[in-house]
Amino acid sequence: MRIKIFYLSAIVYAVISSIGVLRLQLSGYFLYVLPAAIALFYLFYASQKKVELVHTTIGAILVNLSVQLTGGLDSPLFMAYVIILPIMGYKEKYFNYWIIALCLFAGETLASVFSHEIMILHLVLFAVVIIIIGVLIRNYSENEAFLKKSLVKYEARDEFFRPADFDSKTVTTAIQEIDQHKGVERPLLYYIKFIHKLFDAFSIAFFANSEDNLVLVQGFSKSELFRAGAVVSLKSGIYRQIMASSKSILIKEFFQNPEELGYYKGELKIASVMIAPIVLVEKIEGVLVIDRKDEPFDEKEKELFDEAVKTAGYMLAMLKLYEKQWYKATYLDSISEFAMRLHRGLDLAMILPNAIKSFQEVLKCNDVSIAEIDELNECGTVIKSTYIKENTEFSLDDGLVGFIARHRNYIIKEDLSQGKLIVFKKSAKTRNHSFIGVPIMQDDDALLGVLWCEDHKKQKFNSEDVEPVNLLASHLSLVWQRAIHHQQEKEKAALDGLTGLYNHRQFQELLQKQIDEENEAVLLMIDIDHFKKVNDEHGHQAGDKVIKSLANLISHTGIAARYGGEEFTIVLSNCSLKKGIDQAVRIRAHISKSKIKFNDVEIQITISVGVAHYPSDAKTREELIEKADNAMYRAKQTGRNKVVVARTMERSGNQDIRGSDEYSKM
Ligand code: GH3
Ligand code: MG
Ligand code: MG
Repeated sequence: MRIKIFYLSAIVYAVISSIGVLRLQLSGYFLYVLPAAIALFYLFYASQKKVELVHTTIGAILVNLSVQLTGGLDSPLFMAYVIILPIMGYKEKYFNYWIIALCLFAGETLASVFSHEIMILHLVLFAVVIIIIGVLIRNYSENEAFLKKSLVKYEARDEFFRPADFDSKTVTTAIQEIDQHKGVERPLLYYIKFIHKLFDAFSIAFFANSEDNLVLVQGFSKSELFRAGAVVSLKSGIYRQIMASSKSILIKEFFQNPEELGYYKGELKIASVMIAPIVLVEKIEGVLVIDRKDEPFDEKEKELFDEAVKTAGYMLAMLKLYEKQWYKATYLDSISEFAMRLHRGLDLAMILPNAIKSFQEVLKCNDVSIAEIDELNECGTVIKSTYIKENTEFSLDDGLVGFIARHRNYIIKEDLSQGKLIVFKKSAKTRNHSFIGVPIMQDDDALLGVLWCEDHKKQKFNSEDVEPVNLLASHLSLVWQRAIHHQQEKEKAALDGLTGLYNHRQFQELLQKQIDEENEAVLLMIDIDHFKKVNDEHGHQAGDKVIKSLANLISHTGIAARYGGEEFTIVLSNCSLKKGIDQAVRIRAHISKSKIKFNDVEIQITISVGVAHYPSDAKTREELIEKADNAMYRAKQTGRNKVVVARTMERSGNQDIRGSDEYSKM
C-alpha cells in the first residue's frame, strides 16, 4: 500500500512539474528558504536512517516547489529534483527507482513538449544521469558491505531469550533494565554471523519456536527483501516437516517461491537452502535456515551445517544457564541493596521510612503501611504508612491485616473491590485494588507487626512477589527487634541501677529539655540528713534500703532522679514556685513521718530540700542546679529536716532564714 501511494505521488509530482502550474515568478527569500528547508529535511532524513513515506512525500513536494519557484527546467535545482526523488524511492525498494525516474522523465518530456521548448540537451542529460545512478545503486546494493543486519524486536524474542526456569517478572519488579538478554543474544548473534560468513550464505534466519509459529529472532541477509519481523505458521509448509521429524534438510535446488521460507517479501531467486532444528534438551527451541543465491550447498556443507547447528543448541543452553545465574545474582544484589538500606539506623523512627521505601521500590507499588500488633488486646496501630494517619488504631477482627496477624501468614488479593474487602479498619477507605501483606515475626515467633503493600491496579501482586516480600520482611524483623533492644538499652543506660530513677546524666539532659521546652519549672534538690549514721548504725544494706524506699516515694512526684549517693532531684515541669514549694513541703513532711523497715528495725529519716524556680531564679540549667543546691546546703546549715527556697534565702540574706523555717514546720 505504502509503495503504491509512493508511485502515485511520484507520478503526480511529475505531472505537476510538467504542466508547470506552479511556475510562479517569485524571487527573493523563497529562492533560499525552500532549498534550506530541503537541506534540513535531508539531514533529518539521513539521521533517521529509515525510509518513511511521509519523509519521501514531503521531500518530493519541497523539491518540486523549489524547482518550480526557481524556474522549472532552467532551475539549477532541477537536477536535484530528478535525482533525489528516485533515490528516495529506491530506499523502499530498488525497483522503485526506475519507476519513479521513468515517471519524472516522462513528465519532464511532456512539459517540454507542452511548453514548445523542447530541450533535448536537458532531457538527454537527465536520462544519462538517472541511468548512471541506477547502475551505481545496483552495484552498491549487491555489495557485501551493504549486508543488512536485522535485529528483531519482537515479543516472542523476549520469551525465547528468557533464562530457563526463572521468572523474569520477579527480576523486573526488583530492578530495572535487567531484562535485555544481552548475555544470550549477543553471543548468539555473533555465532550466526559467523555461520553466515562460513557458508557464504545469502541469508541466514534464526527462528524461535513459539507455540504454532516460528518467529524470526535474528538474521542477516544481503537482500533488501529480507523481512525482519517474520512470523511463520507451523500449520503447513517446509517448517512443519522439520518440526515433525526433528531432522535437518538440504534442498540443493530450490524451485519454490522464496517467500515460503518466511523471511522474504517480494520476488527473488534462491538456489539452495539448508534448514535445521535447534534442539535443546530434547525440545525444539528453534530453527536455523541458510540459503544461497547462486551455488547450491553440497552434502559436505550439510554435514558442517549440522555440526554448526548442534553447537548452536549447546551454546544456547549454556548461555541461558549463564544468564539465569546472572539474573539470580543481580536479583539478589538488588534485594540486598534494599536490605542494606533497611539496616541503616538504630531506632524505628529511622528504620520505618526506609522500610516503606524499600518495599515500594521492590514491588513498584503505590502504598506501603506498617502496623504494630498488640496480640493481648487484639488490636493494631498503624506506625508508618504512605496514606494512613500514624497511630490509627484498629481491631484485629476487622480486615485483612488482622487476619494476617492472627494466622501469621501472607495474603494476596487481586481486587479488593470484589467482595468489598476491608484492609485494616471498617471505616478506613482505600483507593487501591491490589493487596499483599505479610506478618513481621520476632525470632521467638512472637508477632511484631504486619506490613502490607497496596496498588491502584488490579492483579498487581502474585505468588512471584512472595519471595522478595518475605525476604525483606525478615530483614525488617531483624532491624525492628534491634531497634526495640536498642531502645531498651538506651532506657537502661538512663536509669540508676539501685533505685530505678533517672541517673545523674539523664537528669541533666531532662532538665535541659525542660528549660528548652517549658515556660517554667521547679527543681527540688533533696539530701538525706545524717545518712552516714544510718550506715554506721544499721549497716550499708540498711542504707541501701533507705535510699530505695525514698526513691520509691518520690518516683511519681515529678521527673525524679538520683543525683548522687543519697542525693535526689525532682524536676516539676510547667510548675509555679508556689506549687513547687507545696510539693517539697509535702514530701519532706511525709518522709519525716514514715518509717522504713529493715529486718527487724524501723529506720526513720529526715531530708533537707532546696527549691529553685526557672526562670525567675535562674536562666540556665547550671544556675538552677546551683541555686537549688545552695538552698539545700542552707537547710543543712540551719538545722536540717526543712525546705529552703532559693529566693527567700537570697532576699533574707545570710542571717534570716525564717522563710524556710516556716515551711519546715508545716
Ligand atoms: P548530712 O545531713 O550533712 O547530709 O549528713 P550525711 O551523713 O548524710 O552526709 P553526706 O550527705 O555527705 O553523706 C553521704 C553518705 O552517704 C556517704 C556515703 O557513705 C553514703 N552513701 C552514698 N551512697 C550510698 C549508697 O548507695 N548506699 C549506702 N548505703 N550509702 C551510701
Ligand atoms: Mg546527707
Ligand atoms: Mg549527701
